[in-house]
Amino acid sequence: MQYVFGPVPSRRLGRSLGIDTIPLKTCNWNCVYCQLGRSRPMTNQRKDYIPLSEILSDVERALSTIPRKEIDWITFVGSGEPTLHAGIGWLIRQVKRKTEIPVAVITNGSLLFVKSVRKDLLEADAVLPSLDAGTAALYMRINRPHPDIAFDRYVAGLIEFRNEYRGRYWLEVMLVQGLNDSVEALEQIEALVEKINPDQVHINLPTRPPAEKWVQPTDQEGIMRASLILGEVAHVIQPNEGSFVLECGGNYVEALIGIITRHPMSEDQLLHSLELLPEVKRAQIIQSLSSSKKVQIIERYGQSFWCASPAVFPDSRKEDN
Ligand code: SF4
Repeated sequence: MQYVFGPVPSRRLGRSLGIDTIPLKTCNWNCVYCQLGRSRPMTNQRKDYIPLSEILSDVERALSTIPRKEIDWITFVGSGEPTLHAGIGWLIRQVKRKTEIPVAVITNGSLLFVKSVRKDLLEADAVLPSLDAGTAALYMRINRPHPDIAFDRYVAGLIEFRNEYRGRYWLEVMLVQGLNDSVEALEQIEALVEKINPDQVHINLPTRPPAEKWVQPTDQEGIMRASLILGEVAHVIQPNEGSFVLECGGNYVEALIGIITRHPMSEDQLLHSLELLPEVKRAQIIQSLSSSKKVQIIERYGQSFWCASPAVFPDSRKEDN
């Protein structure tokens, strides 16, 4: 399956079956903490990046082979910004017709100012946009958006969607040390949270390999500061060390590459996902992955992370700055 991956353990959605509607890394932001590396090139064009019929047939296959109890949510997420696929609304409606499993969309929220995008997301059971900054200046530093996504426009979209949407609306604040974890930055975010009025605010940390080497998650004090300032609506999201389900019909290498492409894995997670296999088989899989041209290893926070090799990190073999 090319466009469906997992289920992967999600910090917010339990066991999440991912639907990836766009090629790596198709995004209109270039966040400093992005686990998929730098956006090269950045695009704000909405179109059918991948034929809808191919995505839907992967979804049908996954739903017919993966036991229902292993999936908590079906989540549009993956190689970039899912709302850039012009057919996302149609896909959400099709998935909802095929299963009662709830559907979530993890999005940066940047296109919610566009009426048709808001309409596309109305049938999702949960929409989870980002809000990392309370000012345009900080937004430019953290999210490094496409020039067409001005801060005011983006925030107006987040507010407008709240007025129209009846599902669960959960904002995410990714806390980066020294950028948005000060009292001032958090109070500015809080002022916007009041206006947007989400059901919850999820305080999250960049625990997977950030695009920029200097990015660090905030510390315990920063988390407490954020909880206090953002108030009752805020929930701290704990790192999820749950296991990955490798539904692969025996092709473990391809299944792992499918996950790593959307969801870099630490070495421990990778080994854990294979622990039920005989040792010899595990060694063969690790050897095949190491020699695959589709995989690269990026060092962050003193750990090795397995990432897709086309992903552009400053320390990628192909990136020289
Ligand atoms: S974190 Fe999300 S919004 Fe930010 S650059 Fe990566 S894919 Fe795009």
